[in-house]
Amino acid sequence: MTNAPILHDPTLFSVWAEVDPKNLRDAAQHLGDVMPLPLPQIYQLVKQAASQGRKVQLTSTRPYRDALKLTGELPNGFIEGTAVVAEETADPIVSAWCVKHHCYFSHGCSVCEGDYL
Ligand SMILES: [Zn+2]
Repeated sequence: MTNAPILHDPTLFSVWAEVDPKNLRDAAQHLGDVMPLPLPQIYQLVKQAASQGRKVQLTSTRPYRDALKLTGELPNGFIEGTAVVAEETADPIVSAWCVKHHCYFSHGCSVCEGDYL
């Protein structure tokens, strides 16, 4: 028996933003590059999100600083100023928000806790 501490990976982050209803095709095209789904299915997803004004996850597994930076450099098809950062396991619809680090988190902000990349 060893007494090694239980190790877990540091937190990574994703970026979410609202889809531009006038540019569904570019949004779907972008998501097609990052999601393992057929394009028609992604188009449906994007269309539904746009009609509900719901944010979609447009990139994932990013270090915190990278994710923050990406919120200011959205690809075509997404509405400027709507992007937010969330922990990989968090969801902007249901998760809590850290005012200090501008990110959604699932079990205590990992940036506050210093357990992140
Ligand atoms: Zn925090």
